[in-house]
Amino acid sequence: MELYPNVYQIQSLFGGRNLFQYLFVGDNTVLVDTGIAETPERIIFPYLDSLRLPLESLTLAVTTHADLDHQGGNDAVKRTSPGTWLSCGAADRALVEDPRALYDIRYNFLRADHDMGFDPDPAPDAGKARRMDLCFTGGEIIRLRDGWHLEVLHVPGHSHGHLALYDPLHKTAFVGDAIHGRGCPYATGGLAIPVTYYYVDVYLSTLRYFEHLPIDALYSGHWPIMHGEEIRDFIAESRQTVELLDRVILTSLERNRAGLTMKELVDAVASAVGDWPPESWTLAMFPVKGHLDRLEEQGNVRALRGTRPVKWELA
Ligand SMILES: [Zn+2]
Repeated sequence: MELYPNVYQIQSLFGGRNLFQYLFVGDNTVLVDTGIAETPERIIFPYLDSLRLPLESLTLAVTTHADLDHQGGNDAVKRTSPGTWLSCGAADRALVEDPRALYDIRYNFLRADHDMGFDPDPAPDAGKARRMDLCFTGGEIIRLRDGWHLEVLHVPGHSHGHLALYDPLHKTAFVGDAIHGRGCPYATGGLAIPVTYYYVDVYLSTLRYFEHLPIDALYSGHWPIMHGEEIRDFIAESRQTVELLDRVILTSLERNRAGLTMKELVDAVASAVGDWPPESWTLAMFPVKGHLDRLEEQGNVRALRGTRPVKWELA
């Protein structure tokens, strides 16, 4: 779908959710995210074909953040078009380059202490290991053609190195999974999975940053296209969700002085939100752990280290 002249949204489905990549066509052609392992060959390359763009015209592929549905196609892009530069946020590089690291460090980091996580081995969807050609830390300018460029924004929270791209000429932002609302929807509506931000304070500062950026249209990795007030509402809902999680975790621990496991806290949070599908609740371990880390730093909670799975209690 052409969003506006020379800018395209490429759509497919993954787990019932929309999975979007974006394409900017100028003197330089820039792809935002590469999907899962099969997305380039199945979706992106045919899309380029339909625009009569040879694959070799792809200058740069930007992976917004370390997750298998955004980085999984990097190997296929590089294998098919060796001249295309692969890039991501500097702080996400190790995870984006290697699905083994993605699983060990990002997806299964709670397994030992908290008995929560995913399959130990990377799914085929995560693709193959691939080195980045270029890393961004935010503030860089990507020239599309004379008079038209993208600004690289560093918008952490969901991951340390999360990037967004801002088109100041059209006041549009391409934010990947930087903003979560109350969760991520199915393509057909209703929530598919919980919020999955992790670093709470930087997530809040990312929300504030977007609030003050002039954005007429917001394009993301999975959420519907938003304009004007919808963007303001989405950011407000994101902040309210952070406040809700903090409150639910603290009141749950107040009511359970013997402590609660991560899984019990995830259940409490998910029940309070109300419409995350139960089969996806595990994913709330990311924000719950993020909140617990922050509450621990603030001196409000502590982990009972001797227990397995670890229990948390009020400090
Ligand atoms: Zn995603």
